[in-house]
Amino acid sequence: MSRELQPEALRRLAESLSRLPGLGRRSAERAALALLDWKPDELKQLAERLASLSEDVGNCRLCFLPTDLRKGELCPVCADPRRDRSLICVVESVSMAVPIEKSGYRGCYHVLGGKLSPLDGVGPGQLHLESLRQRSAEAECREVLLATSTDIEGQATAAYIAELCARPGLTLSRLAQGIPIGADLSHTDSASMAMAIARRNQF
Ligand SMILES: [Zn+2]
Repeated sequence: MSRELQPEALRRLAESLSRLPGLGRRSAERAALALLDWKPDELKQLAERLASLSEDVGNCRLCFLPTDLRKGELCPVCADPRRDRSLICVVESVSMAVPIEKSGYRGCYHVLGGKLSPLDGVGPGQLHLESLRQRSAEAECREVLLATSTDIEGQATAAYIAELCARPGLTLSRLAQGIPIGADLSHTDSASMAMAIARRNQF
């Protein structure tokens, strides 16, 4: 849509929406235009929900998962006495914790808020690393599972944490790599296949 046809308010809204993951500029413009068709009370409710995000939702004091601040400083995982506190799974972002939680994982989490990436200006000071070091140093912590991504920055971040948290009695583990369940073996990339062969299990 040409800029001339866009009122200022619509353009500003599209600009904000375009920052959402998966929404490019054109999709954001379409979403903004679709909102024009909403009834005024529906738009008001959306605005109220957006405004309450910063007031009602914050980061868990321990693990940095999002939490309902009206219910306390701890997220549902940290507040649940049935969760295994001896195991901390380290993830870069909340979205990476979602599939782990869906898998039935019963340990706790630590959200870093990114991965080390010197070229993008992300150093140790920009991540939640000191709080992780402190949590992993507590006697009840027996294992830190490094679930950072498998690219170079993710691997470097895992290596940094392994060095930061290393102490006698603490296991540092990494998510296994290999063949996804249900994958077509003929289309598996060679790096994943090499890892699957190197880490093969006895049948
Ligand atoms: Zn928490």
